[in-house]
Amino acid sequence: MRKPIIAGNWKMNKLVAEGARFVVDIREKVPPNEEVDTVVCAPFVHIPFISEAARAYHVKIGAQNMHYEESGAFTGEVSPTMLEDLLVDYVIIGHSERRQYFNETDETVNKKTKAAFEHNLLPIVCVGESLEQRENNETVDFVSGQVKKALDGLSDEQAKQVVIAYEPIWAIGTGKTATSEEANEVCKHIREVVKEAYSEDVSEAVRIQYGGSVKPENIEELLGMSDIDGALVGGASLKEDAFLKLVEAGQ
Ligand code: PEP
Repeated sequence: MRKPIIAGNWKMNKLVAEGARFVVDIREKVPPNEEVDTVVCAPFVHIPFISEAARAYHVKIGAQNMHYEESGAFTGEVSPTMLEDLLVDYVIIGHSERRQYFNETDETVNKKTKAAFEHNLLPIVCVGESLEQRENNETVDFVSGQVKKALDGLSDEQAKQVVIAYEPIWAIGTGKTATSEEANEVCKHIREVVKEAYSEDVSEAVRIQYGGSVKPENIEELLGMSDIDGALVGGASLKEDAFLKLVEAGQ
């Protein structure tokens, strides 16, 4: 039995006080970790404040990116060591917006995924095809390639703990959701890729989220699918009531 994981991705939204208030407002209503993992992925500047507010409750803290080096001359970057120091639990790696606007590549995604494990951070690795790739029937090959490259070189124990977020680019922030069947089909393929690269044991343990215009109206159907173990949510994670509904659906 895989534990559902609902992660909100605030992207570049909210001021620090708004973020801290959000966590204070939701924290007592979040179900226990034994039932569902609830993650808030906030901009870096929020992290010290929300992790303080979340401590002793069941809200886990995620970052939205990081560098793979521990320190050095990388102006503007944040290292895995720094996130570990702030007791961050998860880190989103390779979100399509980072691949599109900030030169994130499969190679850097792989380096960051490995670096996460070296620093007690659990990676949420994002993969997903463009509309053009979907229309050309390239989805499965493209996404399989992204998954293989991201997980390359991990141990079985590490691979088991990776969270993979399947996020078709055409469904992110557009209001268009893949149908649950379309989403599940790709998630099933992702699990097959993990099985081929590792083992059945690993592939059955790995959690695969769907992301792309997830909202309270469609979450239950998505979570009802055989290979979807949670959701990575942008827009609908910004409002407390909507986010809580998503988390409750994961229970
Ligand atoms: C995301 O940011 O990963 C995402 C899926 O955004 P949205 O839910 O707004 O489509």
